[in-house]
Amino acid sequence: MATIDGVVIKDSVKVERIGVHSHIRGLGLNERLEAAPVADGMVGQLAARQASGFIVKMIQEAKIAGRALLITGQPGAGKTALAIGISKQLGQDTPFVSISASEVYSSEINKTEALTQAFRRAIGIQIKEETEVLEGEVVSLEIDRSATGVGPKIGKLTMRTTDMETIYDLGSKMVDACLKENIVPGDVVQVDKSTGRVTRLGKSFNRSHDFDAMGPKVKLVKCPDGEIQKRRETVHTVCLHDIDVINSRTQGYVALFSGDTGEIKAEVRDQINRKVLEWREEGKAQFVPGVLFIDEAHILDIECFSFLNRAIEGELSPLLIMATNRLIEKVRGTDVESAHGIPSDFLDRMLIVNAEPYTNEDIEKILKLRADEEGVKLDSNSLALLVKLVSTTSLRYSIQLISVAEVLRMRSKEQTITTDHVSKAYRMFYDAKRSQKLLNDADYLL
Ligand code: ATP
Repeated sequence: MATIDGVVIKDSVKVERIGVHSHIRGLGLNERLEAAPVADGMVGQLAARQASGFIVKMIQEAKIAGRALLITGQPGAGKTALAIGISKQLGQDTPFVSISASEVYSSEINKTEALTQAFRRAIGIQIKEETEVLEGEVVSLEIDRSATGVGPKIGKLTMRTTDMETIYDLGSKMVDACLKENIVPGDVVQVDKSTGRVTRLGKSFNRSHDFDAMGPKVKLVKCPDGEIQKRRETVHTVCLHDIDVINSRTQGYVALFSGDTGEIKAEVRDQINRKVLEWREEGKAQFVPGVLFIDEAHILDIECFSFLNRAIEGELSPLLIMATNRLIEKVRGTDVESAHGIPSDFLDRMLIVNAEPYTNEDIEKILKLRADEEGVKLDSNSLALLVKLVSTTSLRYSIQLISVAEVLRMRSKEQTITTDHVSKAYRMFYDAKRSQKLLNDADYLL
């Protein structure tokens, strides 16, 4: 945690798990933005990946302000995968925030507040904090002189440098130089290894040295002006929302852990905005606009779309990517039907990319990639079975079966996952369709 100009910031802690999309490292495009059949963890979807690559280029050339992207396609067609590919292509540290539109309708906070928080979570800020480092300050000097005074003298000099600490093993000549200069901890020195020269440049602190039987005790007083100092920059990466939360008096940074942030006052946000823009002017901070992905976009209502219309024009807006599998639907909160359940004026501002359904060959490649990512071995029959199951369940479900089958394989102490493990996993956990059938049958019995 650090404080700059009275504003508290805190590094985001990233917990990496093997998530369902962890195999995706980019869009897998060449310089001409053409997609390779399998690259960067992405399989197929060549047209959609190429179009996404153009969007990345437009963002990098700052030509896409005030626009948003819509990815359409069937469940499991890879809409989220494409959005993640875009964020990775923008830079491995680009913030990626994914929400389902239904999360906006929580009972805790109103919908525009929920959207604002999601927007601000997708805006990364790299804040540079300057720390003073005393380059060349001697931390300790140990000299080993043989009791008889004959033989080579050796020593170890520990110095503070911008790379933290440097330890020099001193040869006889250098030891002599240290003795001649009467070097003690707290001095600022320059060591030239090639000539063996150790030169005292000054003192870092006013120190008083008391000696007793245990050796010198060093008392630090105050750093005087005009000493040799270098500046080291520490970079903190945070998201705008975290800065809001920890500077919001009613919430405090404890809310970062509980996630229970509640509503944040507009004044707090205005203040933070002014501050971070100031930091940017002063070169202390850099913005990393991320990607906000809203799945099931058709669930949003007309008020949410009005809010988003304004929000994407903001100077700090992340790239907004929405996804839906709906065709023609009523826009929520109105009687008007529109493509994808999205108001036509908003749709007009969107670039639309369609994720095509996968072929069995693509599905097999995706499942293989997942198995590699999870470090598990599938035999050819179990892979074929997993591919087959996708047609009656879903790609996500088959991907999940890999991890369950792996636990079963470990228990049976076999080398690779076989069809037995996959079948057992399939019987153990229901997919959405079988679960629904189970409920329907139960209804029928009542
Ligand atoms: P839903 O509509 O259910 O939200 P979706 O269209 O967003 O689904 P994803 O979640 O992106 O589908 O895809 C399901 C799984 O398949 C994920 O693990 C995803 O990483 C993987 N996947 C999908 N498409 C690809 C692809 N083209 N290359 C590699 N992996 C993919």
